[in-house]
Amino acid sequence: MEQEQLNIKRSSKVDDYQSPDFYQIDDLLTEEQLQVRQAVRDYMKQEVSPIIEDCAQQALFPSHLIQGFGEMGLFGPTIPEEYGGNGFDDTTYGIMMQEIERVDSGMRSMASVQGSLVMYPIYKFGSKEQKRKYLPKLASGEMLGCFGLTEPDHGSNPSGMRTSITDEGDHYLLNGAKMWITNSPMADIAVVWAKNEEGRVKGVIVEKGMEGFSAPEIHNKWSLRASITGELVFDNVKVPKENLLPGKDGLGAPLMCLDSARYGIAWGALGAAMDCYETARKYTLEREQFGKPIAGFQLQQKKLAEMLTAITQAQLLVWRLGQLKEQGKASSAQISMAKRNNVAMALEVARTARQMLGGMGITGEYPIMRHMMNLESVVTYEGTHDIHLLILGNEITGIPAFS
Ligand SMILES: Cc1cc2nc3c(=O)[nH]c(=O)nc-3n(C[C@H](O)[C@H](O)[C@H](O)COP(=O)(O)OP(=O)(O)OC[C@H]3O[C@@H](n4cnc5c(N)ncnc54)[C@H](O)[C@@H]3O)c2cc1C
Repeated sequence: MEQEQLNIKRSSKVDDYQSPDFYQIDDLLTEEQLQVRQAVRDYMKQEVSPIIEDCAQQALFPSHLIQGFGEMGLFGPTIPEEYGGNGFDDTTYGIMMQEIERVDSGMRSMASVQGSLVMYPIYKFGSKEQKRKYLPKLASGEMLGCFGLTEPDHGSNPSGMRTSITDEGDHYLLNGAKMWITNSPMADIAVVWAKNEEGRVKGVIVEKGMEGFSAPEIHNKWSLRASITGELVFDNVKVPKENLLPGKDGLGAPLMCLDSARYGIAWGALGAAMDCYETARKYTLEREQFGKPIAGFQLQQKKLAEMLTAITQAQLLVWRLGQLKEQGKASSAQISMAKRNNVAMALEVARTARQMLGGMGITGEYPIMRHMMNLESVVTYEGTHDIHLLILGNEITGIPAFS
């Protein structure tokens, strides 16, 4: 992967975050889970907190962190050790995503895509050779990957995709375009979903440098500014036959990947909410108006009490979801509920926290406005807020209301 020299300013501000734990949920975590959380928290405080605001302000993707994330085991932590992962449980994966997104949703997006949307499909549906070739390098951060499902004309309804893969005897030919792809301009490989001659969805690994393949960057985002997003364009790309994911086809394959990523998002968005809550709590205890700390006014206390209640509910939701996932019992609808609830909750907490800081709330002195803008993407990608509501509606009634 090419590394460009970035001009990033390091803030001297100390990140002294401690997570709120009103219902003693930490008591439900294992010693190992708590140790991993501390290690990721320390790493994020040292390496990411001091630079993230400047990266977001400048819309710079801190690509040097790819290697650091790899060394910290943040890519595909549930993948077995033989393929470069740590074989951690799903709760540990969730905790890692929470600690990353506590600092920035864009950084968590990079890790979610690499782990859940690139390594997971290669591990689940890939051949032995594909697993050996790609997984260790993706785990270590030597390689960056992206996941191409969304198209310019097909977002919430990926079944309408037009990207095509045709069998040309000794190779496949890939044509079409993907849109809004996290990591794509810097990615070494892309896991791409395309329809074959029979209209069946197939997954294929496309490598950077293949003739006819390009990944232009999407500029001018007001959200996830420290994450890099782009398109994927395939103009008669010749893809070797051995790059097809042989293990599963149909739309169910990318949807399984989305389940894994959405699970991580449910944990992650909660991290952003906890950071906003802690920032508002500390600020209102220090800031004085009308002769006393603003935290002493009932209106501010109502906001803090409601934020902490919503955070505690969300903490219990993901903790239980983690248990269900580890037992192989978490359904897509349960994951939808957690993603939808926790992201909406985080957005609400961020908006409220921003108001509690008054004018300071809109500056980069505090992380709240950045979290708030980031969460506007998180509430949209991996199934919008309303699409998850329709998934739940279908689960409850048995009547699909998508079309
Ligand atoms: C920053 C960012 C990063 C992303 N990263 C990736 C990535 O790495 N890989 C990838 O494949 N995709 C990625 N996406 C794409 C993302 O998943 C889509 O944006 C999302 O699925 C919504 O699709 P859309 O933008 O086309 O909106 P649309 O599908 O056009 O939806 C627009 C609005 O219509 C609503 N709507 C749609 N259908 C219905 C319905 N049946 N009933 C009621 N309301 C409906 C939606 O809820 C939404 O509010 C990313 C998006 C963003 C913003």
